[in-house]
Amino acid sequence: MIYEFLILRFGEISLKGKNKKKFIVKLETTIRKSLKKFPNLFVKRHYDDIEITLHGEDVDAVAQQLQSIFGIHSIRAAIKVENNLDDIKQGVLQIAQSEVYAQTFKISARRKNKNFEYPSNVLNQELGGHILKNMEALKVDVHHPDLNIRVEVGEHDTRLYGREYPGAGGLPVGTSGKVMLMLSGGIDSPVAGYLLQKRGADIEAIHFHSPPYTNDRAKQKVVDLAEKLQRFGGHIKLHIVPFTNAQVAIKDSMPDNYRMTIMRRMMLRIAEKLAKKNGALAIATGESLGQVASQTLESMHTINEVTNYPVLRPLVSMDKIDIMAIAQKIDTYDISIRPYEDCCTIFLPTAPKTKPKREHANKFEQYLPIDELINEALEGVQTIDLLTKSQESDDLDDLL
Ligand code: ATP
Ligand code: MG
Repeated sequence: MIYEFLILRFGEISLKGKNKKKFIVKLETTIRKSLKKFPNLFVKRHYDDIEITLHGEDVDAVAQQLQSIFGIHSIRAAIKVENNLDDIKQGVLQIAQSEVYAQTFKISARRKNKNFEYPSNVLNQELGGHILKNMEALKVDVHHPDLNIRVEVGEHDTRLYGREYPGAGGLPVGTSGKVMLMLSGGIDSPVAGYLLQKRGADIEAIHFHSPPYTNDRAKQKVVDLAEKLQRFGGHIKLHIVPFTNAQVAIKDSMPDNYRMTIMRRMMLRIAEKLAKKNGALAIATGESLGQVASQTLESMHTINEVTNYPVLRPLVSMDKIDIMAIAQKIDTYDISIRPYEDCCTIFLPTAPKTKPKREHANKFEQYLPIDELINEALEGVQTIDLLTKSQESDDLDDLL
């Protein structure tokens, strides 16, 4: 493998002005953590990019690991040569020869160092000509080349870029504050969490479960989902809230068609308390407008009444099919479709109200010992620290 470096570009972070450094430092920390399994790498932060020296590590494996980190716009494999034309010619030819799949190519030269004697257009011609002369099967395509060899003449050396990998985009996780994600075992909420991580949010998750109506496998599903989300950066804590007594109380004393609404209001009240306790400034759900009875505007309006925390709904305007495609991409889909019930399906009313009213919900709730149920649920919360958990399994791997 000829490549010696990976160069990471930032995309949106570049627009951050004075805050740029803070974002890049955060990104660098995430990158270092994520690349621990490649011991030979050397990571160096510059003003405009991050440079990773491979020292023999596999370029594709490292790049693939970096592709799940938010805040990286592009990943380019590169070599460095001295600032002289012969070395540059030899370098671009090596790159072209190593990318055997390419049938067309293009040179994109940029002379940042104005003291270098050849301007960019001359470099493009000279280097393109050199490749054509030595590799007869290759053709130039300036619009859609299989291989775009970028040449950047700097102050001290010249970088030659070959293979490119798209980055995940977005902002580094942890630069937008913390969000408490309501994580069911379904398809939607993990996708909502992923999209918030993409915008830089740190995620903490809450799951309501109702043993013995829901079993340990339903809980395990949520742990597995949270672990998948953790791959995108950050450190996820998962709060498991015992919800059986609240569910039973709602089922026994609330009208059938308002049960869903009132259950959601209970969940939201508890989520707000946990958000406050753990320093999250918003709550998030996987709701999508009109998808089911509890996700009409009227339902959202009535459910939302119980909190003045922002409730973020990243999927609100997305179609189910697009949500499913993201779930596939982030590898949560297969976990989400495991058949174990989550607490809501078991207590599902036969005909939930699609247009519940705040006045009615408030009136019915007078017959429910709300504070008592909330306090009891909060006292029973079990918090799983997923980072510690995966560190433990890493240690185990080392031992085996
Ligand atoms: P999902 O696929 O995320 O389960 P859904 O389409 O099944 O969503 P609902 O069951 O109505 O929709 O749930 C709406 C949202 O409420 C979920 O996206 C999730 O954020 C939250 N939620 C539902 N059940 C639970 C639960 N047991 N624990 C935590 N949050 C939940
Ligand atoms: Mg669900």
